Amino acid sequence: MTRVTSILNQQKFSKEDLLFLLKTEGDNLKHLFEKAAEIKKENVGNKVYFRGLIEYSNICSKDCFYCGVRRSNKNIQRYQLNDNEVIQAAQFAFDQRFASLVIQSGERSNKAFTEQMEKLIIEIKKIGNSALGITLSCGEQSIETYKRWFDAGAHRYLLRIETSNENLYYKIHPKDKTHNFQKRIQSLHDLKEVGYQVGTGIMIGLPFQTMEDLADDLLFFKNLDIDMAGMGPYIEHKQTPLYQFRNTLHPLKERFKLSLKMIALLRLIMPDINIAATTAMQTIDAEGREKALMVGANVIMPNLTPLKYREDYLLYEDKPCIDEEAEACKNCLEARIHRTGNSIAYNEWGDSLHFKKRSSTLN
Ligand code: SAH
Ligand code: SF4
Repeated sequence: MTRVTSILNQQKFSKEDLLFLLKTEGDNLKHLFEKAAEIKKENVGNKVYFRGLIEYSNICSKDCFYCGVRRSNKNIQRYQLNDNEVIQAAQFAFDQRFASLVIQSGERSNKAFTEQMEKLIIEIKKIGNSALGITLSCGEQSIETYKRWFDAGAHRYLLRIETSNENLYYKIHPKDKTHNFQKRIQSLHDLKEVGYQVGTGIMIGLPFQTMEDLADDLLFFKNLDIDMAGMGPYIEHKQTPLYQFRNTLHPLKERFKLSLKMIALLRLIMPDINIAATTAMQTIDAEGREKALMVGANVIMPNLTPLKYREDYLLYEDKPCIDEEAEACKNCLEARIHRTGNSIAYNEWGDSLHFKKRSSTLN
């Protein structure tokens, strides 16, 4: 038996195993991808869940060094969807049988924002009598806010740790009160305590990031016992401080391959969680999301943000589908997904199986 075969057949994976697999190429890599596809099929089936993505606002109080909508970027127009636009997008998701939404936003924690979000969640839940599942991705908030939004009807939350290496965290964020690594970890615990299905993730191919960091990130997810993950390649943005390090980065194709490996490895070590095939994958490779589905991902987030705002929600450059209507996006996605051997689970919330098992043992 080769070393790869014997590692792939293990139930537990050490950091060395993960590092070894992160570095595999050629036939061995093919073997890893096949194993991940098999584990996905056995544990969560070849189904894809859609989450209609609403990019609610690009107004942000933070200044992350990698992100195009950071507070200090004066070159973009700031927006916030009005209530009607949000409800229309939600209604569209319901009509298309998507069953779930993700509401993503720049981070704000003032009263006006948190109350507005609460109101919107309540309004969305009225559609089809609680037909839509709601995932939020609105950054770090107080536990009270998380609880209010949960009580209003949101039940999943995505908060990427971005990197689990504290030193690296402070190289990609300002070192100040609003960008605190320990606080971000605390937020993940708070979300769990409130009762959310909790998702986190990282960017892959960041400046200064090593293979060891990536292996540690996988173990961090496992230790935190997450229910969902969203990971994708880091893509440089001209109007951000990290752009100065662009010459030190892996080529985009490498970052893409590394992202596929990370998805496959995460499926291997956490077989029953939900893993998103992220938009950033599609930015690098037109079939990036489909490739992600074939090595372990099982969630896709079609963009439902009204077209006029899309060019102002550029977290990174060359984001795809900024000029495609939501409907066109859906039709092209459907055909693409069928080609991967997956079927779309319409009208199903597609909650994390891992969460279901985790909560049944808690009760
Ligand atoms: N403000 C919220 C949610 C919106 S940002 C938050 O930060 O949690 C959503 C994600 O976009 C971030 O978590 C980050 O991982 C990703 N992102 C931002 N800039 C990026 C870039 N340049 N390349 C790839 N992903 C990026
Ligand atoms: Fe704001 Fe999120 Fe971008 Fe950071 S990553 S600047 S919190 S939108």
